Amino acid sequence: MNPLRILFISTAETAERWEAPLRAALPGDELHFEADAVAPEDVDVVLTAAPERGALAPFTRLKLIQSMWMGVETLVADPTLPRDVPLARMIDPSMTRAMVETAAAHVLNAHLRLDDLARQQREARWKLLRNPTADGRTVGILGMGELGMAVAEILRLLGFRVRGWSRTPKDVEGVESFSGAAELSAFLSGSEILVVLVPLTPATAGMIDAGFLARLPEGAVLINLARGAVVNDDDLLAALDSGRLRHAVLDVFNVEPLPPDHRYWRHVRVTVTPHMAALTNPHTAAAFVAENLRRLRAGEELLGLVDRGRGY
Ligand code: NDP
Repeated sequence: MNPLRILFISTAETAERWEAPLRAALPGDELHFEADAVAPEDVDVVLTAAPERGALAPFTRLKLIQSMWMGVETLVADPTLPRDVPLARMIDPSMTRAMVETAAAHVLNAHLRLDDLARQQREARWKLLRNPTADGRTVGILGMGELGMAVAEILRLLGFRVRGWSRTPKDVEGVESFSGAAELSAFLSGSEILVVLVPLTPATAGMIDAGFLARLPEGAVLINLARGAVVNDDDLLAALDSGRLRHAVLDVFNVEPLPPDHRYWRHVRVTVTPHMAALTNPHTAAAFVAENLRRLRAGEELLGLVDRGRGY
């Protein structure tokens, strides 16, 4: 077996976290963590997350660009990324589980109005909140891919009425499918709790604007676990200020870390979490990388292939 020459390039992930898991998962390959340790034309595979723009341009003989993250919008948007090289994103069951737990926790919180109860307790106020049971609540999932599908499944098992929106129609038992721009209004109009799990692409950037929010039911809750740039912040704040939207849970932001003076931090209707809905786990991610490299060697279909034209 010929060893593959692999170079790790990232401004966000560190060799400290990744080196041991990668060496354990790829014992027969040659791993480099310093770009000047190997001639660019000798590198077979770049393992990357948030590289500097242009950083991958010198690698002319690549067989694969493997992202360490599920979201690949910065890679796809880099015009200097070597063309005609397969780009694969991370798909890791352990991240999917983490996302399912996070989404389920926030949906149940919104459904049972636990934040309102906590507020009542701080005010020593005894007031019953009459919530419906889950079968009386509709949750919409914007983006029915790897993560959206898994979240839909667990919410359906909890008894919620679940609907999903995607580019192409889906046939999932117990989940009402809506697709494309033509069905977005119908999808939104019934989504009392909306979980956002679409990738950031030219088509989804800024899509959650005033017009979008106005189509949600009065008092809806927005849970954005995807990317901050899908949301127009001014429009979201206006919908929260007016009370049309009951609450927003935001894990991701247009600017990260969220600046200390941003209104989201202190808004009574906003929950802020620091982009941690599903963190990459180098141990399980390394197993995914090893499987994709096995497929690369065997000439088998790669996992997580990104359609660069589509942007995800
Ligand atoms: P997938 O690529 O598997 O799924 C994307 C889904 O969005 C698909 O159902 C796709 O439709 C749909 N979609 C994309 N573009 C459009 C469009 N223009 N109109 C309608 N539907 C569209 O992505 P994942 O589920 O793996 O991940 C989603 C995102 O979650 C990632 O891109 C990343 O940004 C984010 N993420 C956030 C994390 C966090 O910690 N907060 C962690 C991991 C990921 P179709 O099925 O028809 O193609």
